[in-house]
Amino acid sequence: MFGRKLIAGNWKMNGVTASLVEARAVAAALDRQPCPNRVAICPPATLIYPMVQALEGSDVLVGGQNCYVEEAGAFTGEISAEMLIDAGAGMVILGHSERRQLFGDTDESVAAKVRAALRTGLEPIVCVGETLDERKAGQTLDVVGRQIRGSCPPELEGRAFSVAYEPVWAIGTGLTPTLEQIEEVHVAIRALLAETLGDAGEAAPILYGGSVKPSNASEIMAVAEVGGALVGGASLKAEDFLAIIRAAG
Ligand code: PEP
Repeated sequence: MFGRKLIAGNWKMNGVTASLVEARAVAAALDRQPCPNRVAICPPATLIYPMVQALEGSDVLVGGQNCYVEEAGAFTGEISAEMLIDAGAGMVILGHSERRQLFGDTDESVAAKVRAALRTGLEPIVCVGETLDERKAGQTLDVVGRQIRGSCPPELEGRAFSVAYEPVWAIGTGLTPTLEQIEEVHVAIRALLAETLGDAGEAAPILYGGSVKPSNASEIMAVAEVGGALVGGASLKAEDFLAIIRAAG
């Protein structure tokens, strides 16, 4: 169904220039022993350009964690998709649950950010996922379906992108859904993407995210329709991130 998996590290608001040593270690290990999948690191915006420089010549991609919809202007504190491209980023995480919960991102604004990313050639990773209350209320597929419909605009048709299914209650908590729960949601997301976005929806990797670690990565990666991982905490240390990358195949 899909080709290469995507293993993306989300450093969130962690990392200073000294942390580039971890990214370099990942790149060096993959240089010595290449892996068949795509690997990306999404550091804080301040580290995108230095990381691109530090990883020059390696296959590790560098991405942003958010972008604004406008190209430039009086938007203090914001960073445009054009600026991410200029810094050397190749992809961008959009609609992460922390953005949705803490910074007011909505399906509508995420869709606008996806359009901005596509305008520049940045590959979006669109995040969706239910809260614990929503799961307990049996609303998981409704919530995720609504997020996919609202956050993935028709402009994605014919474009390269990924979706990350990240149950909010599994992020940074050490909790993970059962493999059956992961499969149920990934299969539903695939059906919806195929229905709404045709071939691009069939081809888009659907990443799982939420407390992925070396000890659970291989079983999660083997689940039907899991096309990679979005890794938070465990991506900060090269050793752990590499173990997850190797577990993906
Ligand atoms: C994330 O932030 O996207 C994430 C999945 O975090 P963690 O792996 O730490 O749960």
